[in-house]
Amino acid sequence: MDPKDNEYDVVIAGSGPGGATVARELSQKGKKVLILEWGGNDPVKGSLVQAYPQIFMPGKSLLITGQLLGMVRGITTGGSSLFYCATAFDPPVAMLKSYGVDITDEVREVRAELPLNPLSDELMSPAGMLFMESALDLGYNARKLNKFIYQEKCKKDCDRCSYGCPEGAKWTARNFVEEAMENGAKMINHARVDKVIVENNKAMGLQYRHGGTCHNVYAPQVIVAAGGIGSPQILRNTGIEGVGRDFFFDPLCFVYGTVKNGGSGKGIQMCAGIHFAEEGIVMTDFNMTRMLKTLLDLEVFRFGQVFNYANVVPIMIKVRDGLGGHITDAGWVWKPLRPSDKHKLRTGRKHAQRILKNMGATDIYNSWLLAAHPGGTVKIGEHLDPQLQTRIKNLYVCDCSVIPEELGLPPTFTILSLGKRLAKHLMSTDESYTAEAVLETQTV
Ligand SMILES: Cc1cc2nc3c(=O)[nH]c(=O)nc-3n(C[C@H](O)[C@H](O)[C@H](O)COP(=O)(O)OP(=O)(O)OC[C@H]3O[C@@H](n4cnc5c(N)ncnc54)[C@H](O)[C@@H]3O)c2cc1C
Repeated sequence: MDPKDNEYDVVIAGSGPGGATVARELSQKGKKVLILEWGGNDPVKGSLVQAYPQIFMPGKSLLITGQLLGMVRGITTGGSSLFYCATAFDPPVAMLKSYGVDITDEVREVRAELPLNPLSDELMSPAGMLFMESALDLGYNARKLNKFIYQEKCKKDCDRCSYGCPEGAKWTARNFVEEAMENGAKMINHARVDKVIVENNKAMGLQYRHGGTCHNVYAPQVIVAAGGIGSPQILRNTGIEGVGRDFFFDPLCFVYGTVKNGGSGKGIQMCAGIHFAEEGIVMTDFNMTRMLKTLLDLEVFRFGQVFNYANVVPIMIKVRDGLGGHITDAGWVWKPLRPSDKHKLRTGRKHAQRILKNMGATDIYNSWLLAAHPGGTVKIGEHLDPQLQTRIKNLYVCDCSVIPEELGLPPTFTILSLGKRLAKHLMSTDESYTAEAVLETQTV
C-alpha cells in the first residue's frame, strides 16, 4: 500500500478542548478521525501522584517564565481541562465577529449540550459563600459563576477537582474524546507531534514521535490543537514564521486571610466572582489543595502559614495582560509583566484585602504570581483566516492559541465554540458531504 493512502479523513494533534471538540463533532458525522496526543490516557484517579507528571513536571507541563511565574498545562488526554476549575465565562462573541468569526450558534449549542450552571447553595464552598457575602455587603457586583459541572455527581467538600475529578462530575475534554472514540475515532497516546507534512503548500499529514521512533500519518485535513504553547512550536517546525509571539497568559495571584470557621479549606473553587470588565480584573474565591497552598506559602517564605489551612479563605485575582513576549523554540515562555499588568494585580489585591477584612479575616498575605491560560500565539487575522486555516492549505489550528486578543477570562467556553464552528466548516468543504452527495447516498 502506498504510505500516502489516506486511512483517515482528519488527523488532529492534541486532545484538549479544541482538538477534542473537532474530533467529537467530525466523528459524529462519520468522518474517520485520528488524534495524536502527547500525554497518556490512564483513568482519572484524582490523586497528586497521578496528576504530578501530567501538570507539575518542570519543562513539560510546568513552565517557569523569566520573571519566575509558574505556568501549568495538562499533558494528558483532555489537556488542561482535566485540571481546570470548570468555570465558564461567556465567549467574546462581538470581538470574534470583528475578525469575521461568528460563533453565535455554536455558543448556543454548547450551552444546550453541556452542564452550565451556577452551583447550588449546597455545593458552594464555605469560602465561596463568605467571599460572595462579604463582597455584596461592600457593594461589589459579586455573583455565582457558571460551572461545567454535573452537579448531581458532585461530592460536597471534595478537593480533588484540581487533580482531575474521579467522580465524572467535572466536564472535561475527555468526555468529548470518549464520545469521539465511541463514534469510531482512534487516538494514539504518547505521540508527540513534531511538525506538519507539507507538499506544494498543502498539508498532507503529521510527523510524530512514538516509542522512540519517528512516524508519519497522512490525512487530507490536518488540525493542530496542541494548546497555546504546543501549537506555535509545531507550526514553527513546519516553517510558519512569526507564531508564538505577542501573546497573553492571564497572570494571577492569591490573597489569603484567616477567618474563624472559614470552612474546611476544601470544596469547589471559583464558585463566585466579581468581574471588573473595563479594568480587566476578575476576582474569585479559590479553595486549593493543602499541597498547593503549602508550595505557594513556601514560595513567599510564609513558613508559619504552612500549617494553617482549614480556616484560610483564598481569593484569586486574575488580570488581562497586554500582548507581549514569545515562546522559545524549546517551548519555554518569555513574557515580562508590563507596569500596567502589575498595576492591575495591585488593584485586585487591594479589593481582595478589603473583602477579606470585611469578613473579619486576620493574617492577610499575598502569594507570588502564576499564569494560567496561554493564548493568542497563532492569531486569527494574523496567522489564520476566519476559518482557522493557515496559509498552508488544509492546515487548521483550533485551541487557545487562535484567540486574537487578550481576554483576561477563562477561555474554555470560547474554545469549544470555535471547535464546533471549525467542524462545520470542514464538513461543508468536504464534497462527499455536500447536500447532493448525501441525497444520492440516501437514494441508493
Ligand atoms: C489550573 C488551571 C485551571 C483552569 N481553570 C479554567 C476554568 O475554570 N475555566 C476555563 O475556561 N479555563 C480554565 N483553564 C484553562 C483551560 O483549561 C485551557 O484554556 C484549555 O484547556 C485550553 O484548551 P486547548 O485545547 O487550547 O489546549 P490544552 O488544554 O492545553 O490541550 C492541548 C493538548 O495538546 C497536547 N499536546 C501538546 N503538545 C503536543 C504535541 N506536540 N503533540 C501532541 N499533543 C500535544 C497536550 O498534551 C494537551 O492534551 C484552566 C487552566 C489551568 C491550568
